[in-house]
Amino acid sequence: MKLKKTILAFSLLLIISCQKEDELSPLTPQEGTLIQNTNCTEKVNKQTSTDLADATFDINKQKPITLPVYFHILYSGKTPTVTAKDIELQMTELNKCFSGKATGAAKLANVRFENVRSKDTKIRFILEGIRFKKTNSNVWSGLKIFKKYSDAKNESEGGSRPYSPEKTINVWVLEGMILDKTYNPNDKAFTLGKSSSPFDAENLDYDGILLSNLGLPNAQEKTRTFINPFTNEKKTISARLGRALPHEVGHYLGLDHLLGPLDIPCGDDDIEDTPPAQKLHSGKPLLPFTEKCDGKANFQMFMNMMDYTDDEIRYMFTKGQVNEMWKLCFYGTDAKRKKMIE
Ligand SMILES: [Zn+2]
Repeated sequence: MKLKKTILAFSLLLIISCQKEDELSPLTPQEGTLIQNTNCTEKVNKQTSTDLADATFDINKQKPITLPVYFHILYSGKTPTVTAKDIELQMTELNKCFSGKATGAAKLANVRFENVRSKDTKIRFILEGIRFKKTNSNVWSGLKIFKKYSDAKNESEGGSRPYSPEKTINVWVLEGMILDKTYNPNDKAFTLGKSSSPFDAENLDYDGILLSNLGLPNAQEKTRTFINPFTNEKKTISARLGRALPHEVGHYLGLDHLLGPLDIPCGDDDIEDTPPAQKLHSGKPLLPFTEKCDGKANFQMFMNMMDYTDDEIRYMFTKGQVNEMWKLCFYGTDAKRKKMIE
């Protein structure tokens, strides 16, 4: 009951912030608790439709667009390990990262890449709703590893079906790290998140983001530890600011890692103002920091949001990355995620 009260109080805040007076309306009377914030984004985005019909794209002329985000909190214990307050913090951090205000910038921004750093992506996010769902499937128990990721999105497998996926970024928050089987099924690597791309926008059952609860912001914990169930190895991760989701939203809006979609050493992300990356970086590299590609030493943009460095270190998107997200998703006739702002 205590949780329910917290959720209702949080919902009330949302309604005030959107200046709407709609009553809260659950999707269906299903298991779990649901909060919902209706129609905020339609109102916010109305102003942008004519701007997007212009012949030439210029980010400086764009008014910000706002994308709705819906969280599915899947948990297996008595109560969720994630609260509405955690989600509120995550939304704040997501908006900071996309408006050029992520902390860390002051420390590192003017050293090398300030001229290509985007000051504002003009993309904002608003919380559309949260669904807390207890799963009773064995698949979700124990180490919280499940058979396949699409199960998280499937009601009959214990997951939670997508919420209005054409218009909403769906985020499924899972307990524990997420097994990364993308490129090598034998690699027992774990990640904090996984995302579909704009090219999945038509496959609505699949489209969306999986996020580990360990990737959510947490001001109290400096690091978090998890056990790799395959190797029993103890791993420490630094994710306390909540920048796993901004990274995944980057993928959702069409960005690759700096070394390209296949993570090949010195591969290319096809963005002009990002330098060649030798690899995905981790931890807290120190400046100046160069690595060789084609025999040539390049300064590495390890502070880019699409790298794997610690949360405190990655804080920026480049102007080229912002153009790529807009062009791929919202601008022009073939834009893949245009329905989200119509
Ligand atoms: Zn990634």
